[in-house]
Amino acid sequence: MPDLFGEIEPGVAEVVPFDGGARAYSYSVPAALKGQLRPGHLVRVPLGGRTSLGVVWKCPAEPPLDAKLRSVMLLEHEQPVMTPDCCRLAEWMAGYYGCGLNSVLETLLPAAVRKGVRPVLRRMLTLARPPEAEVLDKLRRRAPRQAQLIDFLSAQKRPVDRAKAVNGLGLSQQAVDALIRSGVVHEDSSVLLRVAYDDPFAEAEGVPAAGHILNPQQAAAVASVSATLDSRAFRAHLLHGVTGSGKTEVYVSLIRKVVSEGGSAVFLVPEVALTPQTVGRLRSRLADLGTKVVVWHSHLSAGERFDAWMAMSLGQARVVVGARSAVFAPLPDLRLIVVDEEHEASFKQSETPMYHGRDVAVMRASLLGAACVLGSATPSMESWRNAAAGRYALDIMPARVDDRPMPAFRIVDMRREVLHSKGQHILSRELVDGLRERMQRREQSILFLNRRGHSRSLVCPDCGAAVQCPRCSVSLTLHRTDDTARCHLCDHREPAPVACPSCRSPKVRWKGHGTQRAEEALAQLFPRMKVARLDADTMGRKDLFRKVLSDFRAGRYDVLLGTQMIAKGLDFPRVTLVGILDADLSLQMPDFRAPERTFQLLTQVAGRAGRGDLEGVVVVQTFQPASDPVQFAKRLDYVGFVSAELERRVEFGYPPERHLVRHLFRGRNAEKAAFVAEAWVKEFERLHPGLAEIRGPAPCPFEKVQDQHRFHVWYLVPAVKPLLAALLPLRAKFLRDADVTDVLDVDAQDCA
Ligand code: ADP
Ligand code: ZN
Ligand code: ZN
Repeated sequence: MPDLFGEIEPGVAEVVPFDGGARAYSYSVPAALKGQLRPGHLVRVPLGGRTSLGVVWKCPAEPPLDAKLRSVMLLEHEQPVMTPDCCRLAEWMAGYYGCGLNSVLETLLPAAVRKGVRPVLRRMLTLARPPEAEVLDKLRRRAPRQAQLIDFLSAQKRPVDRAKAVNGLGLSQQAVDALIRSGVVHEDSSVLLRVAYDDPFAEAEGVPAAGHILNPQQAAAVASVSATLDSRAFRAHLLHGVTGSGKTEVYVSLIRKVVSEGGSAVFLVPEVALTPQTVGRLRSRLADLGTKVVVWHSHLSAGERFDAWMAMSLGQARVVVGARSAVFAPLPDLRLIVVDEEHEASFKQSETPMYHGRDVAVMRASLLGAACVLGSATPSMESWRNAAAGRYALDIMPARVDDRPMPAFRIVDMRREVLHSKGQHILSRELVDGLRERMQRREQSILFLNRRGHSRSLVCPDCGAAVQCPRCSVSLTLHRTDDTARCHLCDHREPAPVACPSCRSPKVRWKGHGTQRAEEALAQLFPRMKVARLDADTMGRKDLFRKVLSDFRAGRYDVLLGTQMIAKGLDFPRVTLVGILDADLSLQMPDFRAPERTFQLLTQVAGRAGRGDLEGVVVVQTFQPASDPVQFAKRLDYVGFVSAELERRVEFGYPPERHLVRHLFRGRNAEKAAFVAEAWVKEFERLHPGLAEIRGPAPCPFEKVQDQHRFHVWYLVPAVKPLLAALLPLRAKFLRDADVTDVLDVDAQDCA
C-alpha cells in the first residue's frame, strides 16, 4: 500500500537472534512489515555476514541514538511463537540461572519451532468471479481442464482442497496458478495441523470419563484455589495430599473450571511416559470440554511438535499435559499451572539452563497473575518452607478417598536377616511369606528396587577389584539381556568379562541385586509365580512398557518388579503388598538430600499399596531401621519428618535455609582442573569476603565422566543474584583457554 503521508517513519524492533544472541539487538522494520510485528514473532534477521532466525523481543522499540540499523528480513509465521509473559520469563531465567538469553530460548522453544519448520498449508480454492459464458467456451476448447475446475468449483459452492482438485482433475499447478492470477479462482491458505493430540499412552485403561463427586476435603481444596482463580491475581498453592487422597480429581476440577471460563491451563508431570494413567485420566475427563488437550512428550516428531505449538498459540488447544518444558507452552490467557509430584528431582533440567520446572512455573504464574498449584504427598522442603512462611497457601488432604486405610509398614532389619539366613539375601523371610500368601489369595504384589545403588557391579573375591568404566569413575553394570557390562553415565559397553581383568581369577562374580537377580531369586523360590519386570531395559520400548502395565492390571501377573519408575502415580486396586528391597538410599548417595529422598521414596512406593478395597502392607528391607526417614515414613508422619529435617538443614545452612549454587570445573587434565578451581576460589574470597559460605573445591562423587575430571565448589548464599554478579566476571580471567570449562548450577539438586 502506498504511504499517503510520503515519508515513512522507520519502525524499530528489538530481536534476540538464536545464533549468538545473548541479548536483544535493534533492527529497523521494513515498510512491508510495518505495524505487523509483535513481541514473540519469529523473524529472520541479518547477523554479521549471515542471517539468523530470532524472536521479536520488543516492538516498537526506541531506536538507538547512533547506529545505522539493518532491517528485519522476513516474518516466518503470522502467529507469535512466544507469549509476552514468556519473554519476561526468559529474561528472569537468564538472570537467575546466569546464562545468555539465546541459551534460554533454545530450551524454551522446541527445535522444530526455532528452526522454522514450515507449517503444512492447506490451500482451499473457491470460485471468485465466474467468467462470462464466451470466455468459458473458449477455455473449454483451449484448456479443458481449467474449465473443468471452474465447473467443479461452481458446482461445489464451498471451498475445495487444492491438492485434491489438482489430483482429481489431472491439472498442472501452473494452470491453477494462472486461474488464481487472473482473479477467477480465489485461494485461501490456512495452517493444517498434523494431529499431535494422539498420545501413545492414551489407552484409557478402563478409566471412566465421568468424574467423581468431590468429597469434602477435595471440595475444600478446589474452593481454595478457585478463590485465587476468581481473584485473577497470582497465588501459589501447596496441595499436600496423602497418596490416594484424590489429587488428580482436584486438578481436573480446576482445569475444567478454567477452560469453561475461557482460560487455558498447563499440567506438569514428572515424566509423561511414567504417568500414563494420570495422563489418560486427565484426557478422558477433559474430552467433553470442546478443546484439544496437547500431550507434550518425548515421542512427538518435529512436525507434531510444531503443530502442537501452533495449535496452542492459536488457542485451538487450551490445555497441555507434559514434562517440565510444557511450562513454556504459548497458551493465550493462561490462568492455571499445576505441578503434580512437585518434589520430583526430574523437574530440574540437567543441561544449561539448569532451570527447575517447578520454580519456573511459580515465576510464570506470578508474571501472569495466575494460580499455581504444587501437589504432592511428600512436598519438597523448599515448598514446605514457602508454605510455612505464608508465601504459599497450604491446602491439606489428610485422608484417602472413601476412608481407605493407609498401608501398614513392616520394617525388616536386614542386618539380622543376613546373619540368620543362608542362601539368598535379596528377599527377607517376612517378604517371602507375604508373597506366598498373596499368591494363595490371588492378590498382587509390587517389589521395588533402587536403581541408584551400585548393584550388579563386578567384583573379584581374590584381589577385590571392581570393574570400572575406562572413561568414568564408576563401576560397570551387568546387563544379562546381551551379556554386556555397561557404564550408566556414558553408555560405554563391553562384553561381560569371565575372568578378573586385574588378576585373571575366574572367581569374579556380580555383586548386589539388580532387578534381574531379584527375578532369578523369585523364580527359584516360586517356580509358578508370574513376574513382570519393569526397569530401564524395558522402559526403552514404550509399547512393551504399556503392555506390561495393562497385563498386570488385568491380573495376568502376580508380581510387578521394578525400579524407581513404579513409585510414580500408578494405581492398581488388587495390589496389597509392596516390598521395598533396599530402602537405604542414604547409604549409597553422598548427598545432603539423601534422607529427604529416602523418605519420599518410601512414602510414594508405599502409596501404591491398598488403593482398592483391600488393605495393603508395605515391607521395608533396610540396614538402618532406626533412621529418621524409615521411622517417620512408618508412622506416616510427613510433618514430623520435615520438621526434624528442616532443623538439620538450618543447622548446616543447607537449602532451603540458603540457596546452594554448585560450581563445576571440568578438564581432561586433573591437576589443571583442580588448580583452576582452587585459584578461582581464592580470588573470589579475596574480592568478596563473606559473600558466600564456600565448600570445596573437592572432587565430585563421580570424579571422572567421559574422560573429564570434575571438581566442584559449593556456594551457600541467602540470595542468588549478588553471587552470580560476583562470579560471572571471573570467567574471563580463569577460563580463557578452553582446557578447563565450568558449569554453574543454581539451586542444584544433583550433586554427583
Ligand atoms: P492421589 O493422586 O492423591 O494419589 P488419585 O487422584 O490417584 O490420588 O485418586 C485415588 C483414587 O481415588 C483413584 O482411583 C480415583 O479415581 C479415586 N477417587 C478420587 N476422587 C474420588 C471421589 N471423590 N470419590 C471416589 N473415588 C475417588
Ligand atoms: Zn582379581
Ligand atoms: Zn563411562
